[in-house]
Amino acid sequence: MRHIAVIGSGPAGYYTAEAAQKAFGDDVRVDIIDRMPVPFGLIRTGVAPDHQSIKGVSRRYEATALTETVRFVGNVTVGQDVTIAELRELYDAVVLATGAPADRPLDIPGSDLPGVVGSAAFVGWYNGHPDFAGLAPPLVGPGAVVIGNGNVALDVARILAKSQDELAASDIVNHAFRALERAGIDTVTLLGRRGPHQIAMTPKELGELGHLARATPVVEPGDLPPTDEDAALEPGQRKSVTHLRDYAATGPDTAKPVRVVFDFFAMPVAIKGEGRAERVIVERTALDAEGRATGTGETYAIPAHLVVSCIGYRTPPIDGVPYDARAGRFANDEGRILPGLYAVGWARRGPSGTIGTNRPDGFAIVEKIAEDIGEGSGKLGRPALDALLAARTVDVVTFRDWQNIDSAEVAAARDGAPREKFVAVDAMLGAARTPTT
Ligand SMILES: Cc1cc2nc3c(=O)[nH]c(=O)nc-3n(C[C@H](O)[C@H](O)[C@H](O)COP(=O)(O)OP(=O)(O)OC[C@H]3O[C@@H](n4cnc5c(N)ncnc54)[C@H](O)[C@@H]3O)c2cc1C
Repeated sequence: MRHIAVIGSGPAGYYTAEAAQKAFGDDVRVDIIDRMPVPFGLIRTGVAPDHQSIKGVSRRYEATALTETVRFVGNVTVGQDVTIAELRELYDAVVLATGAPADRPLDIPGSDLPGVVGSAAFVGWYNGHPDFAGLAPPLVGPGAVVIGNGNVALDVARILAKSQDELAASDIVNHAFRALERAGIDTVTLLGRRGPHQIAMTPKELGELGHLARATPVVEPGDLPPTDEDAALEPGQRKSVTHLRDYAATGPDTAKPVRVVFDFFAMPVAIKGEGRAERVIVERTALDAEGRATGTGETYAIPAHLVVSCIGYRTPPIDGVPYDARAGRFANDEGRILPGLYAVGWARRGPSGTIGTNRPDGFAIVEKIAEDIGEGSGKLGRPALDALLAARTVDVVTFRDWQNIDSAEVAAARDGAPREKFVAVDAMLGAARTPTT
Protein backbone atom coordinates (compact mmCIF):
# COMPACT_ATOMS: atom_id res chain seq x y z
CA MET A 1 0.00 0.00 0.00
CA ARG A 2 1.23 3.50 -0.87
CA HIS A 3 0.38 6.40 1.44
CA ILE A 4 0.28 9.88 -0.07
CA ALA A 5 -0.46 13.17 1.71
CA VAL A 6 -1.47 16.05 -0.55
CA ILE A 7 -1.38 19.45 1.15
CA GLY A 8 -4.01 21.70 -0.40
CA SER A 9 -7.43 20.88 -1.85
CA GLY A 10 -7.34 23.23 -4.82
CA PRO A 11 -7.20 22.03 -8.43
CA ALA A 12 -3.57 20.86 -8.17
CA GLY A 13 -4.38 18.79 -5.06
CA TYR A 14 -7.44 17.11 -6.56
CA TYR A 15 -5.82 16.42 -9.92
CA THR A 16 -2.89 14.81 -8.08
CA ALA A 17 -5.33 12.61 -6.16
CA GLU A 18 -7.16 11.70 -9.37
CA ALA A 19 -3.87 10.80 -11.02
CA ALA A 20 -2.85 8.65 -8.02
CA GLN A 21 -6.18 6.79 -8.20
CA LYS A 22 -5.64 6.14 -11.89
CA ALA A 23 -2.02 5.06 -11.44
CA PHE A 24 -2.33 2.89 -8.33
CA GLY A 25 -5.98 1.76 -8.24
CA ASP A 26 -6.83 0.32 -4.81
CA ASP A 27 -3.20 0.19 -3.75
CA VAL A 28 -3.06 3.80 -2.60
CA ARG A 29 -4.53 5.97 0.14
CA VAL A 30 -4.49 9.71 -0.48
CA ASP A 31 -5.20 12.23 2.28
CA ILE A 32 -5.95 15.73 0.99
CA ILE A 33 -5.19 18.06 3.89
CA ASP A 34 -6.39 21.68 3.84
CA ARG A 35 -6.12 24.47 6.37
CA MET A 36 -9.69 25.52 5.53
CA PRO A 37 -12.76 23.53 6.64
CA VAL A 38 -13.97 23.85 3.03
CA PRO A 39 -12.30 22.36 -0.05
CA PHE A 40 -11.35 23.50 -3.56
CA GLY A 41 -8.90 26.39 -2.92
CA LEU A 42 -9.19 29.21 -5.45
CA ILE A 43 -12.15 27.59 -7.19
CA ARG A 44 -14.09 28.82 -4.17
CA THR A 45 -12.14 31.90 -3.14
CA GLY A 46 -10.38 33.09 -6.33
CA VAL A 47 -12.53 32.40 -9.40
CA ALA A 48 -14.95 35.29 -9.81
CA PRO A 49 -18.35 34.87 -8.14
CA ASP A 50 -20.13 35.77 -11.40
CA HIS A 51 -18.36 32.94 -13.26
CA GLN A 52 -20.36 30.05 -11.84
CA SER A 53 -19.83 27.75 -14.81
CA ILE A 54 -16.08 27.77 -14.12
CA LYS A 55 -16.67 26.98 -10.45
CA GLY A 56 -18.69 23.95 -11.61
CA VAL A 57 -15.39 22.08 -12.13
CA SER A 58 -15.43 21.28 -8.40
CA ARG A 59 -18.21 18.74 -9.09
CA ARG A 60 -15.58 16.72 -10.93
CA TYR A 61 -13.38 16.79 -7.81
CA GLU A 62 -16.27 15.44 -5.74
CA ALA A 63 -16.12 12.22 -7.74
CA THR A 64 -12.53 11.85 -6.61
CA ALA A 65 -13.30 12.84 -3.04
CA LEU A 66 -16.10 10.36 -2.50
CA THR A 67 -14.06 7.20 -2.87
CA GLU A 68 -12.36 4.83 -0.46
CA THR A 69 -8.91 5.77 -1.70
CA VAL A 70 -9.14 9.55 -1.28
CA ARG A 71 -10.29 11.57 1.71
CA PHE A 72 -10.47 15.26 2.67
CA VAL A 73 -8.86 16.25 5.95
CA GLY A 74 -9.99 19.84 6.44
CA ASN A 75 -9.22 22.48 9.08
CA VAL A 76 -5.64 21.21 9.46
CA THR A 77 -2.80 23.67 8.83
CA VAL A 78 0.43 22.04 7.79
CA GLY A 79 3.34 23.78 9.48
CA GLN A 80 1.15 24.48 12.52
CA ASP A 81 -1.14 21.53 13.45
CA VAL A 82 1.26 19.03 11.93
CA THR A 83 4.78 19.51 10.59
CA ILE A 84 6.29 18.51 7.28
CA ALA A 85 8.80 16.31 9.15
CA GLU A 86 5.92 14.43 10.84
CA LEU A 87 4.09 13.95 7.55
CA ARG A 88 7.25 12.67 5.85
CA GLU A 89 7.54 10.07 8.63
CA LEU A 90 3.96 8.88 8.06
CA TYR A 91 3.58 9.00 4.26
CA ASP A 92 5.58 7.63 1.31
CA ALA A 93 5.01 10.90 -0.53
CA VAL A 94 4.03 14.37 0.69
CA VAL A 95 2.87 16.67 -2.11
CA LEU A 96 2.67 20.41 -1.49
CA ALA A 97 -0.30 21.82 -3.43
CA THR A 98 -0.58 24.92 -1.26
CA GLY A 99 -0.96 27.40 -4.12
CA ALA A 100 0.35 30.96 -4.00
CA PRO A 101 -2.00 32.76 -1.62
CA ALA A 102 0.15 35.79 -0.68
CA ASP A 103 0.13 39.03 -2.69
CA ARG A 104 3.40 40.04 -4.30
CA PRO A 105 4.13 43.34 -2.60
CA LEU A 106 3.63 46.59 -4.50
CA ASP A 107 6.98 48.19 -3.88
CA ILE A 108 6.32 51.92 -4.33
CA PRO A 109 6.07 54.80 -1.83
CA GLY A 110 2.62 55.00 -0.25
CA SER A 111 1.73 51.36 -0.87
CA ASP A 112 1.17 50.98 2.90
CA LEU A 113 -1.57 53.66 2.98
CA PRO A 114 -5.09 52.56 3.96
CA GLY A 115 -7.06 51.89 0.80
CA VAL A 116 -4.20 50.09 -0.97
CA VAL A 117 -4.93 46.36 -1.05
CA GLY A 118 -3.59 43.34 -2.88
CA SER A 119 -5.81 41.26 -5.09
CA ALA A 120 -5.59 38.18 -2.83
CA ALA A 121 -7.13 40.30 -0.07
CA PHE A 122 -9.69 42.09 -2.26
CA VAL A 123 -10.77 38.97 -4.16
CA GLY A 124 -10.77 37.01 -0.88
CA TRP A 125 -13.04 39.68 0.61
CA TYR A 126 -15.72 39.50 -2.10
CA ASN A 127 -15.38 35.72 -2.32
CA GLY A 128 -15.75 35.13 1.44
CA HIS A 129 -12.27 33.87 2.39
CA PRO A 130 -12.21 33.95 6.22
CA ASP A 131 -8.73 35.57 6.18
CA PHE A 132 -10.12 38.66 4.45
CA ALA A 133 -13.76 38.88 5.57
CA GLY A 134 -12.92 41.89 7.75
CA LEU A 135 -11.13 43.87 5.02
CA ALA A 136 -13.77 46.64 4.56
CA PRO A 137 -12.14 48.23 1.49
CA PRO A 138 -13.00 51.91 0.93
CA LEU A 139 -15.45 51.87 -1.99
CA VAL A 140 -15.54 55.64 -2.01
CA GLY A 141 -15.78 57.34 -5.37
CA PRO A 142 -15.33 58.65 -7.80
CA GLY A 143 -12.23 56.69 -8.85
CA ALA A 144 -10.62 53.31 -8.18
CA VAL A 145 -7.32 52.13 -9.65
CA VAL A 146 -6.56 48.51 -10.47
CA ILE A 147 -2.88 47.83 -11.13
CA GLY A 148 -2.17 45.02 -13.58
CA ASN A 149 -3.19 43.85 -17.02
CA GLY A 150 -4.12 40.21 -16.40
CA ASN A 151 -7.38 38.35 -15.87
CA VAL A 152 -7.35 38.97 -12.11
CA ALA A 153 -7.26 42.75 -12.73
CA LEU A 154 -10.13 42.28 -15.17
CA ASP A 155 -12.14 40.30 -12.58
CA VAL A 156 -11.64 43.02 -9.98
CA ALA A 157 -12.61 45.80 -12.41
CA ARG A 158 -15.71 43.90 -13.56
CA ILE A 159 -16.92 43.21 -10.02
CA LEU A 160 -16.52 46.92 -9.18
CA ALA A 161 -18.32 47.89 -12.38
CA LYS A 162 -21.30 45.53 -12.35
CA SER A 163 -24.76 46.54 -11.24
CA GLN A 164 -26.54 44.89 -8.32
CA ASP A 165 -28.85 43.10 -10.75
CA GLU A 166 -25.85 41.64 -12.55
CA LEU A 167 -24.28 40.45 -9.29
CA ALA A 168 -27.49 39.09 -7.77
CA ALA A 169 -27.18 35.65 -9.38
CA SER A 170 -23.52 35.27 -8.37
CA ASP A 171 -22.19 33.86 -5.10
CA ILE A 172 -20.56 37.14 -4.06
CA VAL A 173 -20.87 37.20 -0.28
CA ASN A 174 -23.44 39.44 1.29
CA HIS A 175 -21.00 41.83 3.00
CA ALA A 176 -19.45 42.63 -0.41
CA PHE A 177 -22.79 42.69 -2.26
CA ARG A 178 -24.15 45.25 0.21
CA ALA A 179 -20.98 47.33 0.30
CA LEU A 180 -20.90 47.51 -3.51
CA GLU A 181 -24.55 48.60 -3.51
CA ARG A 182 -23.51 51.65 -1.45
CA ALA A 183 -20.30 52.28 -3.43
CA GLY A 184 -19.83 55.51 -5.35
CA ILE A 185 -17.16 54.43 -7.82
CA ASP A 186 -17.81 55.57 -11.39
CA THR A 187 -14.33 55.27 -12.93
CA VAL A 188 -12.20 52.13 -12.65
CA THR A 189 -8.77 52.67 -14.21
CA LEU A 190 -6.74 49.62 -15.21
CA LEU A 191 -3.04 50.49 -15.23
CA GLY A 192 -0.74 48.54 -17.55
CA ARG A 193 2.99 49.27 -17.73
CA ARG A 194 3.07 48.06 -21.31
CA GLY A 195 0.64 48.19 -24.23
CA PRO A 196 -2.35 46.36 -25.73
CA HIS A 197 -0.16 43.68 -27.32
CA GLN A 198 1.30 42.75 -23.92
CA ILE A 199 -1.94 42.19 -21.97
CA ALA A 200 -2.49 38.83 -20.28
CA MET A 201 -6.29 38.92 -20.57
CA THR A 202 -8.24 36.15 -22.27
CA PRO A 203 -10.73 37.05 -25.04
CA LYS A 204 -13.86 35.75 -23.33
CA GLU A 205 -13.24 37.77 -20.16
CA LEU A 206 -12.26 40.89 -22.12
CA GLY A 207 -15.29 40.55 -24.41
CA GLU A 208 -17.59 40.49 -21.38
CA LEU A 209 -16.69 44.09 -20.57
CA GLY A 210 -18.49 45.21 -23.73
CA HIS A 211 -21.81 43.84 -22.46
CA LEU A 212 -22.13 45.24 -18.96
CA ALA A 213 -25.41 46.88 -17.94
CA ARG A 214 -24.09 50.12 -16.50
CA ALA A 215 -20.39 50.16 -17.40
CA THR A 216 -18.53 50.87 -20.61
CA PRO A 217 -14.90 50.12 -21.56
CA VAL A 218 -12.72 53.05 -22.60
CA VAL A 219 -9.69 52.46 -24.85
CA GLU A 220 -7.61 55.27 -26.33
CA PRO A 221 -7.25 54.56 -30.10
CA GLY A 222 -3.76 56.06 -30.12
CA ASP A 223 -2.50 53.35 -27.72
CA LEU A 224 -3.08 50.60 -30.28
CA PRO A 225 -0.23 49.56 -32.56
CA PRO A 226 -0.87 49.46 -36.34
CA THR A 227 -3.45 46.75 -37.15
CA ASP A 228 -1.10 44.72 -39.36
CA GLU A 229 1.14 44.07 -36.34
CA ASP A 230 -1.65 41.89 -34.84
CA ALA A 231 -0.74 39.18 -37.37
CA ALA A 232 2.33 38.30 -35.27
CA LEU A 233 0.20 37.56 -32.18
CA GLU A 234 -0.94 34.06 -31.26
CA PRO A 235 -4.67 33.57 -32.05
CA GLY A 236 -6.04 34.00 -28.51
CA GLN A 237 -4.06 37.17 -27.95
CA ARG A 238 -5.14 38.49 -31.35
CA LYS A 239 -8.78 37.98 -30.32
CA SER A 240 -8.20 39.88 -27.08
CA VAL A 241 -6.57 42.75 -28.95
CA THR A 242 -9.48 42.75 -31.41
CA HIS A 243 -11.81 43.44 -28.46
CA LEU A 244 -9.65 46.41 -27.49
CA ARG A 245 -9.73 47.65 -31.10
CA ASP A 246 -13.53 47.36 -31.11
CA TYR A 247 -13.81 49.32 -27.85
CA ALA A 248 -11.48 52.01 -29.19
CA ALA A 249 -13.36 52.24 -32.51
CA THR A 250 -16.85 52.38 -30.97
CA GLY A 251 -15.87 54.78 -28.21
CA PRO A 252 -17.43 54.72 -24.75
CA ASP A 253 -21.21 54.45 -24.39
CA THR A 254 -21.95 57.80 -22.77
CA ALA A 255 -25.35 56.59 -21.56
CA LYS A 256 -23.60 54.29 -19.07
CA PRO A 257 -22.57 55.86 -15.78
CA VAL A 258 -19.47 53.72 -15.03
CA ARG A 259 -16.26 53.78 -17.10
CA VAL A 260 -13.60 51.05 -17.13
CA VAL A 261 -10.58 52.90 -18.49
CA PHE A 262 -7.61 51.05 -19.99
CA ASP A 263 -4.60 53.22 -19.21
CA PHE A 264 -1.73 51.64 -21.16
CA PHE A 265 1.96 52.59 -20.97
CA ALA A 266 1.27 53.67 -17.41
CA MET A 267 3.52 52.77 -14.45
CA PRO A 268 2.45 53.60 -10.88
CA VAL A 269 5.36 55.27 -9.10
CA ALA A 270 3.74 56.44 -5.82
CA ILE A 271 0.46 56.58 -3.94
CA LYS A 272 -0.29 59.78 -2.09
CA GLY A 273 -2.87 61.06 0.35
CA GLU A 274 -3.45 62.41 3.86
CA GLY A 275 -3.58 59.29 6.04
CA ARG A 276 -5.18 57.24 3.25
CA ALA A 277 -4.85 56.70 -0.49
CA GLU A 278 -6.18 59.66 -2.44
CA ARG A 279 -4.31 59.55 -5.75
CA VAL A 280 -1.95 57.34 -7.70
CA ILE A 281 1.04 59.04 -9.31
CA VAL A 282 1.67 57.44 -12.68
CA GLU A 283 4.63 57.73 -15.02
CA ARG A 284 4.07 57.39 -18.75
CA THR A 285 6.23 54.61 -20.25
CA ALA A 286 7.51 53.63 -23.65
CA LEU A 287 8.64 50.19 -24.82
CA ASP A 288 12.34 49.71 -25.49
CA ALA A 289 13.76 47.45 -28.21
CA GLU A 290 13.37 44.37 -25.96
CA GLY A 291 9.72 45.20 -25.25
CA ARG A 292 10.41 46.40 -21.68
CA ALA A 293 8.56 49.40 -20.26
CA THR A 294 10.79 52.33 -19.38
CA GLY A 295 9.69 55.58 -17.76
CA THR A 296 9.53 58.69 -19.93
CA GLY A 297 9.64 61.15 -17.01
CA GLU A 298 6.11 62.43 -17.74
CA THR A 299 3.86 61.96 -14.70
CA TYR A 300 0.21 62.54 -13.85
CA ALA A 301 -2.17 61.75 -10.97
CA ILE A 302 -5.30 59.59 -10.92
CA PRO A 303 -7.70 60.21 -8.01
CA ALA A 304 -8.45 56.96 -6.11
CA HIS A 305 -9.33 55.96 -2.56
CA LEU A 306 -9.21 52.30 -3.51
CA VAL A 307 -6.09 50.90 -5.18
CA VAL A 308 -6.03 47.17 -5.89
CA SER A 309 -2.70 45.72 -7.01
CA CYS A 310 -3.03 42.62 -9.17
CA ILE A 311 0.65 41.99 -9.79
CA GLY A 312 1.09 38.35 -8.87
CA TYR A 313 1.36 36.05 -5.89
CA ARG A 314 3.87 34.17 -3.77
CA THR A 315 3.80 30.84 -1.95
CA PRO A 316 4.51 31.33 1.76
CA PRO A 317 7.41 29.20 3.05
CA ILE A 318 6.76 26.24 5.36
CA ASP A 319 9.30 25.03 7.96
CA GLY A 320 11.36 22.14 6.68
CA VAL A 321 10.81 22.89 2.98
CA PRO A 322 13.64 24.38 0.87
CA TYR A 323 12.44 27.70 -0.52
CA ASP A 324 13.35 29.81 -3.54
CA ALA A 325 12.92 33.33 -2.15
CA ARG A 326 13.56 35.05 -5.48
CA ALA A 327 10.85 33.09 -7.29
CA GLY A 328 8.54 33.08 -4.25
CA ARG A 329 7.87 29.34 -4.30
CA PHE A 330 9.27 26.03 -3.05
CA ALA A 331 12.68 25.16 -4.50
CA ASN A 332 12.04 22.15 -6.70
CA ASP A 333 13.31 20.23 -9.68
CA GLU A 334 10.25 19.55 -11.85
CA GLY A 335 8.27 19.02 -8.67
CA ARG A 336 10.81 17.05 -6.65
CA ILE A 337 11.92 18.91 -3.51
CA LEU A 338 13.50 16.30 -1.20
CA PRO A 339 13.13 12.51 -1.04
CA GLY A 340 9.42 11.87 -0.52
CA LEU A 341 8.57 15.59 -0.75
CA TYR A 342 7.06 17.17 -3.88
CA ALA A 343 5.34 20.33 -5.11
CA VAL A 344 2.58 20.71 -7.69
CA GLY A 345 0.38 23.46 -9.15
CA TRP A 346 1.05 27.08 -8.22
CA ALA A 347 3.29 26.01 -5.31
CA ARG A 348 5.56 24.36 -7.89
CA ARG A 349 5.49 26.65 -10.90
CA GLY A 350 4.18 29.99 -9.62
CA PRO A 351 0.86 31.75 -10.26
CA SER A 352 0.22 31.22 -13.94
CA GLY A 353 -2.09 29.19 -16.11
CA THR A 354 -5.70 28.16 -15.80
CA ILE A 355 -7.37 25.56 -13.62
CA GLY A 356 -6.83 23.00 -16.40
CA THR A 357 -3.07 23.64 -16.44
CA ASN A 358 -2.89 21.95 -13.04
CA ARG A 359 -4.18 18.65 -14.40
CA PRO A 360 -1.11 17.61 -16.41
CA ASP A 361 0.93 18.92 -13.48
CA GLY A 362 -0.85 16.50 -11.12
CA PHE A 363 -0.41 13.57 -13.50
CA ALA A 364 3.29 14.39 -14.02
CA ILE A 365 4.03 14.47 -10.29
CA VAL A 366 2.33 11.11 -9.76
CA GLU A 367 4.56 9.61 -12.46
CA LYS A 368 7.58 10.81 -10.49
CA ILE A 369 6.12 9.49 -7.24
CA ALA A 370 5.55 6.11 -8.92
CA GLU A 371 9.21 6.03 -10.00
CA ASP A 372 10.44 7.03 -6.54
CA ILE A 373 8.34 5.05 -4.05
CA GLY A 374 7.72 1.75 -5.82
CA GLU A 375 5.02 -0.14 -3.92
CA GLY A 376 5.40 1.84 -0.70
CA SER A 377 7.61 1.16 2.28
CA GLY A 378 5.26 0.18 5.09
CA LYS A 379 4.59 3.70 6.33
CA LEU A 380 1.67 4.11 8.73
CA GLY A 381 -0.37 6.73 6.83
CA ARG A 382 -3.97 7.58 7.76
CA PRO A 383 -4.49 5.98 11.18
CA ALA A 384 -1.26 7.49 12.49
CA LEU A 385 -2.25 10.97 11.24
CA ASP A 386 -5.67 10.60 12.86
CA ALA A 387 -4.08 9.61 16.19
CA LEU A 388 -1.68 12.53 16.04
CA LEU A 389 -4.41 15.08 15.24
CA ALA A 390 -6.73 13.63 17.90
CA ALA A 391 -3.96 13.91 20.51
CA ARG A 392 -3.63 17.59 19.56
CA THR A 393 -7.44 18.05 19.65
CA VAL A 394 -7.52 19.33 16.09
CA ASP A 395 -11.15 19.65 14.94
CA VAL A 396 -10.87 17.79 11.63
CA VAL A 397 -13.50 18.36 8.94
CA THR A 398 -14.30 15.44 6.61
CA PHE A 399 -15.80 15.60 3.13
CA ARG A 400 -19.19 14.57 4.61
CA ASP A 401 -18.89 17.47 7.07
CA TRP A 402 -18.14 19.76 4.12
CA GLN A 403 -21.31 18.52 2.46
CA ASN A 404 -23.22 19.75 5.55
CA ILE A 405 -21.55 23.15 5.18
CA ASP A 406 -22.37 23.10 1.46
CA SER A 407 -26.06 22.34 2.07
CA ALA A 408 -26.33 25.05 4.72
CA GLU A 409 -24.74 27.58 2.34
CA VAL A 410 -27.09 26.64 -0.48
CA ALA A 411 -30.08 26.91 1.88
CA ALA A 412 -28.97 30.41 3.00
CA ALA A 413 -28.62 31.82 -0.56
CA ARG A 414 -30.37 35.10 -1.37
CA ASP A 415 -33.00 34.89 -4.14
CA GLY A 416 -31.44 33.78 -7.41
CA ALA A 417 -27.96 33.17 -5.96
CA PRO A 418 -26.38 29.71 -5.76
CA ARG A 419 -25.21 29.98 -2.13
CA GLU A 420 -24.36 32.34 0.71
CA LYS A 421 -20.92 31.37 1.96
CA PHE A 422 -19.92 31.25 5.58
CA VAL A 423 -17.11 33.75 6.02
CA ALA A 424 -15.88 32.67 9.47
CA VAL A 425 -14.18 29.39 10.33
CA ASP A 426 -16.29 29.00 13.52
CA ALA A 427 -19.50 29.29 11.51
CA MET A 428 -18.18 26.72 9.03
CA LEU A 429 -17.36 24.33 11.87
CA GLY A 430 -20.81 24.83 13.39
CA ALA A 431 -22.48 23.97 10.08
CA ALA A 432 -20.13 21.01 9.57
CA ARG A 433 -21.55 19.38 12.71
CA THR A 434 -25.19 20.07 11.78
CA PRO A 435 -26.52 17.65 9.18
CA THR A 436 -29.07 19.38 6.97
CA THR A 437 -30.25 16.34 5.03
C1 LIG B 1 -8.49 35.85 -8.55
C2 LIG B 1 -8.27 34.60 -9.37
C3 LIG B 1 -9.19 34.25 -10.33
C4 LIG B 1 -8.98 33.11 -11.13
N1 LIG B 1 -9.91 32.79 -12.07
C5 LIG B 1 -9.71 31.73 -12.85
C6 LIG B 1 -10.66 31.39 -13.86
O1 LIG B 1 -11.68 32.08 -14.03
N2 LIG B 1 -10.41 30.29 -14.64
C7 LIG B 1 -9.28 29.53 -14.46
O2 LIG B 1 -9.08 28.55 -15.20
N3 LIG B 1 -8.36 29.82 -13.51
C8 LIG B 1 -8.55 30.90 -12.70
N4 LIG B 1 -7.63 31.20 -11.75
C9 LIG B 1 -6.44 30.33 -11.60
C10 LIG B 1 -6.74 29.08 -10.74
O3 LIG B 1 -7.50 29.46 -9.63
C11 LIG B 1 -5.42 28.41 -10.35
O4 LIG B 1 -4.81 27.90 -11.53
C12 LIG B 1 -5.57 27.25 -9.38
O5 LIG B 1 -6.48 27.52 -8.33
C13 LIG B 1 -4.22 26.88 -8.75
O6 LIG B 1 -4.42 25.69 -8.06
P1 LIG B 1 -3.57 25.21 -6.80
O7 LIG B 1 -4.21 23.95 -6.39
O8 LIG B 1 -2.13 25.24 -7.15
O9 LIG B 1 -3.76 26.35 -5.67
P2 LIG B 1 -5.03 26.84 -4.84
O10 LIG B 1 -6.28 26.76 -5.65
O11 LIG B 1 -4.67 28.15 -4.29
O12 LIG B 1 -5.18 25.80 -3.63
C14 LIG B 1 -4.27 25.77 -2.56
C15 LIG B 1 -4.91 25.15 -1.33
O13 LIG B 1 -3.90 24.93 -0.36
C16 LIG B 1 -4.42 25.24 0.94
N5 LIG B 1 -3.27 25.53 1.81
C17 LIG B 1 -2.38 26.55 1.68
N6 LIG B 1 -1.46 26.50 2.67
C18 LIG B 1 -1.77 25.42 3.44
C19 LIG B 1 -1.19 24.85 4.61
N7 LIG B 1 -0.08 25.36 5.18
N8 LIG B 1 -1.78 23.74 5.16
C20 LIG B 1 -2.88 23.20 4.58
N9 LIG B 1 -3.47 23.72 3.48
C21 LIG B 1 -2.91 24.81 2.91
C22 LIG B 1 -5.33 26.43 0.68
O14 LIG B 1 -6.28 26.61 1.73
C23 LIG B 1 -5.96 26.04 -0.66
O15 LIG B 1 -7.16 25.32 -0.47
C24 LIG B 1 -7.82 32.32 -10.93
C25 LIG B 1 -6.89 32.68 -9.95
C26 LIG B 1 -7.10 33.81 -9.18
C27 LIG B 1 -6.10 34.20 -8.12
